[in-house]
Amino acid sequence: MTHPWIADRTNAFDSSGIRKVFDLASTLTDPVNLSIGQPDFDVPEQVRLACIDAVQSRKNGYALTQGMPVLREKLQAEIDQQLGHQDRSVFVASGTSGGLVLAMLSLVNPGDEVILFDPFFVMYPSLVKLVGGHPVLVDTYPDFRIDCNRVAEAITSKTKLILLNSPTNPTGITATSREIQDLAELAQQRNVAILSDEIYSRFCYDDAFVSPAQFNDQAIVIDGFSKSHGMTGWRVGMVHGPHEIIETMIKLQQYTFVCAPQPAQWAAALAMDVNIDQHIADYREKRDRLLAGLASHYDLVAPGGAFYVFPRVPGNRTGSEFVEQAIERNLLIIPGNIFSQHDTHFRISYASDNDTIDRGIDILRQLATS
Ligand code: PMP
Repeated sequence: MTHPWIADRTNAFDSSGIRKVFDLASTLTDPVNLSIGQPDFDVPEQVRLACIDAVQSRKNGYALTQGMPVLREKLQAEIDQQLGHQDRSVFVASGTSGGLVLAMLSLVNPGDEVILFDPFFVMYPSLVKLVGGHPVLVDTYPDFRIDCNRVAEAITSKTKLILLNSPTNPTGITATSREIQDLAELAQQRNVAILSDEIYSRFCYDDAFVSPAQFNDQAIVIDGFSKSHGMTGWRVGMVHGPHEIIETMIKLQQYTFVCAPQPAQWAAALAMDVNIDQHIADYREKRDRLLAGLASHYDLVAPGGAFYVFPRVPGNRTGSEFVEQAIERNLLIIPGNIFSQHDTHFRISYASDNDTIDRGIDILRQLATS
């Protein structure tokens, strides 16, 4: 029974699946946890110190809604240098998630269609529905590649937006330069907005990162410091795109999030200069470790980025059943139906220490043959 005061729009959110996993998980002591969607490394020390210094030097008030100049101007200079677009502005959002919410509110009218790729990051369909839009899923199974022809077929007169995430949560798949270029050009030809969630852009292990903004100067890009610098709790993200759209999002930020935390913005400005190459090299090794451990037992597409692997469930089981069996053996993973219409796969996060990854591999090998 739903409480009579609760608004209908909350029905767009269903956390029952993931809650079931966490309820089961709460019964475990010392689980092998390969379910976590955040880096296992901490914020770099000089960035932590910069945040403390900001707090101690009384930089604790509201930040400017568009972001503190110390960070915003640095981001703008970097973006101008990388893309060289005439009409591209940036603002500081309250995490990538805050940027996503403002993008949806600013771009999607009730009744508009938003094209998403299945599997998708959990927030996407719910956020589309929250603003009255209709998610249109383009299936990418079994290889999780983007087929531009299928996207072209999915575009209707109601399509407002294509939402892309590469490297992808939950598959770790990185779209090729060709796929990104085709998609960016398709959006331009059909006058549809393209929104690119680039939160894993630094986590590319095989090829250089490619953004649709390199091919389409109207592309809207969302990124943030959560994953690259282990700053998930600090809530600092950014959105850049055509000036008028960014100004609209800033206007809405004034009435919603107000600003990203000021001390964290001072620290993020410094974080931009911190070299995180060693973390990326470590995560490449973790990926290879996990793939080597699972390749002979699982049907999986080798990922090129992020910190996830999305194998197919072996045998005659659904993803949910498989995850229950894993939890019985003390292993925490996430069923694929959290991120998809299909319940055939499961997500492993290797953002963990090598010992945990090895223990996870052992349990997964047993599960494959049981
Ligand atoms: N987009 C994707 C694809 C993600 O995986 C996540 C984090 N799990 C986010 C956005 C949210 O990141 P943030 O902490 O910056 O809000």
